[in-house]
Amino acid sequence: MTDINKEELISLLIRIGNKDLDDQTKRNFTKKIADIEANKLSQTQINKLFVLMNKINAGDYDEDTKERTKLLNEIYILLEGYYLNGNEKFFLGTNKKCRFCGKSELDTTFKNISHAIPNFTGNRTLFSNYECDLCNNKFGKLESHMANFMNLRHTLTAIKGKNNIPSFKTISGKSRIDHKDRIGKIKYDQEDSFFSLDEEDKTATFTATTRSYVPVAIYKCLTKMALTIMPEDELIYFEETLKWISDVQHDSPSYNLRSLYADLSTTVSPLNNGFSTIYCQIYKNRDTRKFMSSIMPYMVFVLAYGSFAFQIHIPLCSRDIQLTDFKQFPFYIPTSVDYHFGSSFLQREVLDLNGKEKVVGEKQQHSLKWKRNDSTNKE
Ligand SMILES: [Zn+2]
Repeated sequence: MTDINKEELISLLIRIGNKDLDDQTKRNFTKKIADIEANKLSQTQINKLFVLMNKINAGDYDEDTKERTKLLNEIYILLEGYYLNGNEKFFLGTNKKCRFCGKSELDTTFKNISHAIPNFTGNRTLFSNYECDLCNNKFGKLESHMANFMNLRHTLTAIKGKNNIPSFKTISGKSRIDHKDRIGKIKYDQEDSFFSLDEEDKTATFTATTRSYVPVAIYKCLTKMALTIMPEDELIYFEETLKWISDVQHDSPSYNLRSLYADLSTTVSPLNNGFSTIYCQIYKNRDTRKFMSSIMPYMVFVLAYGSFAFQIHIPLCSRDIQLTDFKQFPFYIPTSVDYHFGSSFLQREVLDLNGKEKVVGEKQQHSLKWKRNDSTNKE
């Protein structure tokens, strides 16, 4: 674990440890902090620790985050979760049998290293053994839709992809942002109206044409991540879902899809904010037959990395037949982004990912806000 991540993990533990817990739990927390400081925990143990912490449900977050955490826990239980902030590599699954097409090593190859969560989020540690090369190539194409859609935002918030932080350039090629040694350089041509600055509001706003993408491919990409971290015994409810994400035809009418909306939370914090953890979780409906649980989907997936948090319901689940009226998830599930930045620093938007045609020439806008720290920067 790098020192920054170690500090982050410890500060989270301390925050939760300050909660009104019994003495035994408090002692356990103190011991865990000592173990982290001494680098005694493996990545697997760290992942489990974050899952546990999530269950305990942190005490002193802002009211809005607390409220949403409470609501979430009433309806859902955390089924699976990974909090990736270390260096130790972790491979899901022991057998080389593809979970997506069903083929084994006898029928296909498993030479590629399959990322459970795409490279472009900064994932260097969580992989799976159960994705064959053919499926891996197919899913790589889904990832490029999402990477295209997020390109400007990834560049502005300095998320290190496969090799480096991605560059961004406008269609004319006259304005661009490149990163070198973690410093962002902006080349700006007035003709592009790419960049505007509001000194008063301490906001920089970037407006540019997005690289082309197919909306539903982004939803498939997120769903694929969910199906990758899902426990094996739950996959029986997602046979249609597996077929759907593997179908290269995005406009096939053979699936009874409900509306596909993803919720996206984005921080407006400036470049290189240093928050680099990746957080992915599946929540499963408690199915208590209470009003809320009966109108909510069986499973939801959240992915948070850098300044962004996505959430989706996992579609085409055979246990969701009764959900005829479900359109979109009614609240934002708290993630590391809420816990780290606080919900008042987040912008929320609903992404309509129902579109099956390629979107070309869409304008996208992203703002960065910086605030002077008055205690250290007095004039
Ligand atoms: Zn396969």
